[in-house]
Amino acid sequence: MANKPLLEFTDRGIYCAKGKFYIDPWKPVDDAVITHAHADHAYVGHKRYLAHHLSREVLLYRLGEINLQTVEYAETVMKNGVTISLYPAGHVIGSAQIRVEYKGEVWVVSGDYKVEDDGISTPFEPVKCHHFISECTFGMPVYQWKPQVQTFIEINNWWRSNLHNGLATVLVGYSLGKAQRILQNLDLFNGKVYTHGVIENTNEALRRNGVQLNPTERITPESIKEEVRKGIIIAPPSSVGTPWMRKFQPYSFGYCSGWMAIRGAKRRRAADRGFVLSDHADWDGLISAIDATGCECVYLTHGYTATFTRYLNEIGFNAKEVHTLYGGEEEEASPEPSPEKREPGTQVENANKGLSFGEDLGEAGGPAL
Ligand SMILES: [Zn+2]
Ligand SMILES: [Zn+2]
Repeated sequence: MANKPLLEFTDRGIYCAKGKFYIDPWKPVDDAVITHAHADHAYVGHKRYLAHHLSREVLLYRLGEINLQTVEYAETVMKNGVTISLYPAGHVIGSAQIRVEYKGEVWVVSGDYKVEDDGISTPFEPVKCHHFISECTFGMPVYQWKPQVQTFIEINNWWRSNLHNGLATVLVGYSLGKAQRILQNLDLFNGKVYTHGVIENTNEALRRNGVQLNPTERITPESIKEEVRKGIIIAPPSSVGTPWMRKFQPYSFGYCSGWMAIRGAKRRRAADRGFVLSDHADWDGLISAIDATGCECVYLTHGYTATFTRYLNEIGFNAKEVHTLYGGEEEEASPEPSPEKREPGTQVENANKGLSFGEDLGEAGGPAL
């Protein structure tokens, strides 16, 4: 084995010096392998992108014209002698763990993941490796998810009782992942599903990618308020408390998030109802996923890294805490990105069309340290 680790943590992101590529870099690089299209993992400005094909349209919608190569799960791409392949992460549609192999040494970068099959994302698949780089957004024992079917029974009952009480129903969830998971599990006998523009743009991108989603109707200035109030409104976190939302009053406003598992979260978000629903693994999910890799070393990137790392070491894993810029879509502090405000392509300085990821052009791809 080489003296230098196959993957290292740099100020641009996770870097493979042998293969000259980065995984989810947060500063512009030549070659970026992207786990999924959430804003804290997929940045603009890279020369070439590699991602799963179901991330394609959402990436293009969010990042503008980028030079993107896509692959299927388990398909391999060679880059300077290093083998790259993507495996399902179960986090959102198109999300992937990145497997990197060189001379028999295997590293896996989880990106964000959850182990429960949400019925819409390709289910998480454990991948054997020597080194596993894992998120731990919910790496505290208090975070234990119940099966999603129970949460959706609560949501559908709440919608029904709002209809009965003459209230509109507004359900808030992140625009990529949560919104589609909600959409596919609503009881459409209750009524129609109306969407905020940010969510409908993401739905449209996914439909362009061939994903079958339940019917939705985009809310526009022409929408008839009384009709919308008879359905359910799916809205992003950024719409909470805005005049856009207030025009549907009186309503009951529900919030879907893993954070709803802790006391006070609902109140902090001023929600009438908090539904525990997360696209990240819970405490048991994290431990079972890490264990299933059979890894000799696990690196924790974002979430409760300090406590979770300490616990893993106590129960016999070899765990290390690392610093990255990941974390965001479900974090309190992070606002919803508003990609429609971005002019497509304007921020992509290095667009180098016609070259596919993996073609080595002899560029200097090293970490800028
Ligand atoms: Zn994510
Ligand atoms: Zn993340």
